Amino acid sequence: MDDGYEELFKEAGVEPYLSRNSIMYGWSTRLFFNSAKKDFSKREQTGIKIQILNHDDISDLEPNINNIFYKGALFEGSYFAKNPKKVSELLIDLFVSKGGIFKKEKVTNIEKVEKSKLQISTGITNEVFDRVIIASGVWSKSLVEATGDKVPLEAERGYHIMNPELKDIISRPISWQERGTYFTPMEDGLRTGGIVEFGDTNYEENPKVINFLERALKSIFPQSNRPAQSWVGFRPSVPDSLPVIGQSSKNPYIYYCFGHQHIGWSLGGISGKLIAQKVCANKTDIDLAPYSLERL
Ligand SMILES: Cc1cc2nc3c(=O)[nH]c(=O)nc-3n(C[C@H](O)[C@H](O)[C@H](O)COP(=O)(O)OP(=O)(O)OC[C@H]3O[C@@H](n4cnc5c(N)ncnc54)[C@H](O)[C@@H]3O)c2cc1C
Repeated sequence: MDDGYEELFKEAGVEPYLSRNSIMYGWSTRLFFNSAKKDFSKREQTGIKIQILNHDDISDLEPNINNIFYKGALFEGSYFAKNPKKVSELLIDLFVSKGGIFKKEKVTNIEKVEKSKLQISTGITNEVFDRVIIASGVWSKSLVEATGDKVPLEAERGYHIMNPELKDIISRPISWQERGTYFTPMEDGLRTGGIVEFGDTNYEENPKVINFLERALKSIFPQSNRPAQSWVGFRPSVPDSLPVIGQSSKNPYIYYCFGHQHIGWSLGGISGKLIAQKVCANKTDIDLAPYSLERL
């Protein structure tokens, strides 16, 4: 991840919106912790350093929680964004300061107008480009289809709720593994997120899901109020959980960069770097074949 973001983050000045406190997983049962242990060696093989915590270590680290945890794990060197919107805005500012143009318009069509020229239509403007990258999350599906390719891309819906009164109650994200729930200390309060739900790209919230998150929140933070806000978002996913990064088989001037499922924010930097290398030099730091659309 750092390979893509490190330089960009430095140049954009995003450090005040990050926290370098390591992320913690917690297990409330011995059964789940023991089965998760199998996972640790695989992670360690990729260079991830894991510190196992006992119940009391967790209380020392995070004294304000109702400590229901049997064991925990700290992922050393991990970090998180306290204000991801601000991070994105600063990255866009950097892009614009280097001559990039940012426009907020809905692309309705991509059409070949000459051998190596593509016209993008938005209903507001029609503009011709030499290269086009489709990177519009789960909505990439219809744009890919417009180019003549097909992709089995679906939305994995996820939710979060916000509790401003719990701002700064913990110093790091905590994941309750049995519930698949994450408690993250954001700049504007505590965010409780999680859930995987197949339900297309509609914004209707399922009250049972909100209730599930609220119950998880109450278990760890009994003093919590009713959440001030709730949100549903769409993780763009294909069946093998790998992103699609590469060139269209129908038109070599169209490129793809989408399908980052649960970790698109984390992988944005490295994926952006790889697709830029592909477009600008046709030479990438790693082989992109495992990420091609043709594999699906
Ligand atoms: C509850 C939840 C928690 C998550 N937590 C994390 C996490 O902790 N860490 C992490 O790394 N990831 C997390 N994710 C996943 C992450 O949000 C996604 O993987 C990521 O948003 C994908 O990024 P993207 O830019 O490809 O797509 P998106 O973020 O969906 O962005 C797509 C963009 O394309 C635009 N667009 C769509 N259609 C068009 C069009 N026709 N013309 C122009 N623009 C268009 C949209 O308006 C949007 O701005 C979470 C997701 C959810 C739902």
